Amino acid sequence: MSVCWIGIGANLGDSRASFDAALQELCRPPEVQLLARSGLYRTAPIGQQVGGNFSNAVFSIATTLSPFELLDRLQDVEAALGRTRDLRWGPRPIDLDLLFFGDQVIKTPRLTVPHPAAWYRRFVVDPLVEVASAFRHPLLGKSIGELHAELANRPLVVACFDQGVVSRSGELRDRFPGVRLLSATAATEASGFPMKLQDDDWSDPVWNGRPVADLTGCPGDAFQRVVDFLAAVLDTPRRISDW
Ligand code: ATP
Ligand code: CA
Ligand code: CA
Repeated sequence: MSVCWIGIGANLGDSRASFDAALQELCRPPEVQLLARSGLYRTAPIGQQVGGNFSNAVFSIATTLSPFELLDRLQDVEAALGRTRDLRWGPRPIDLDLLFFGDQVIKTPRLTVPHPAAWYRRFVVDPLVEVASAFRHPLLGKSIGELHAELANRPLVVACFDQGVVSRSGELRDRFPGVRLLSATAATEASGFPMKLQDDDWSDPVWNGRPVADLTGCPGDAFQRVVDFLAAVLDTPRRISDW
């Protein structure tokens, strides 16, 4: 049996009904058993073509399935609930992301676990803190509660090694007043969150004791990726109800 955490989101249709239907479809003992779920959160959309506000939550399961079998199941449930994949980060009636599969670390084209954005997207971390605050991130060696607290630091120091993005730091400053963007040289001494924007940067998930934001799989150019990263970190999801 493995304990897994799954992030669920939707911004099309009746999201509460889709969330309930997803649990119903997915959680069929003995293979998959529901353990815990967070409340429901309302979040602003992130990305350029993503549509209206999202509902988000997380839940945990115990499963006998392998990580890839579980991913198959998640994608089957998404398809059954009307998910199509025409636009990356487009509007969707349901999205099921495998955040953690126990303490396993998997990096393949089809599946990356822990989900690379699990630790910095507030619409994931806020619900996770509710139900998994003590869970230790297997790559970053910090608990969800600790990671959540670090994200709340203001100013939030972010280290950027991409000269093109650094040269537009004025735009970022206007848009995200709570952020201090440091260039490579300044950042070497600082304790900011570094960002991996291209495939040739870091392979280490931690740099100077800080988690590296791996944005290589995200849509858009380097600047857009940084904008979306900062929007996800500075986001303030609102808890709207129990689930
Ligand atoms: P993001 O992953 O940034 O939240 P998304 O959820 O919009 O973006 P999808 O279109 O739902 O992305 O999925 C794209 C692909 O990601 C899937 O085909 C799947 O194979 C792959 N994938 C890799 N790792 C995971 C994971 N941990 N959970 C779910 N899908 C994953
Ligand atoms: Ca997702
Ligand atoms: Ca997904």
